[in-house]
Amino acid sequence: MSENLRKGMKLVKCMNHDVDTSKWSMYAPEGGCDEKLYIDEASTAGLCWKCTSRSVNNLRGGEMSYSEDQD
Ligand SMILES: [Zn+2]
Repeated sequence: MSENLRKGMKLVKCMNHDVDTSKWSMYAPEGGCDEKLYIDEASTAGLCWKCTSRSVNNLRGGEMSYSEDQD
């Protein structure tokens, strides 16, 4: 597969690259995420499939328990 630019899409770093600002940082790997992904040109940020997968499976290496008490 070549890395062609997709029409109407742009390549950005995963939102979890910066865990300080990401609201999905609980699903970021240790030290932040280095994945890149294509998102809609109108969008500002996206979550890569790895972090999305973590959020779906609600996994985070098992060393931390997930709290729903915030907010
Ligand atoms: Zn990610």
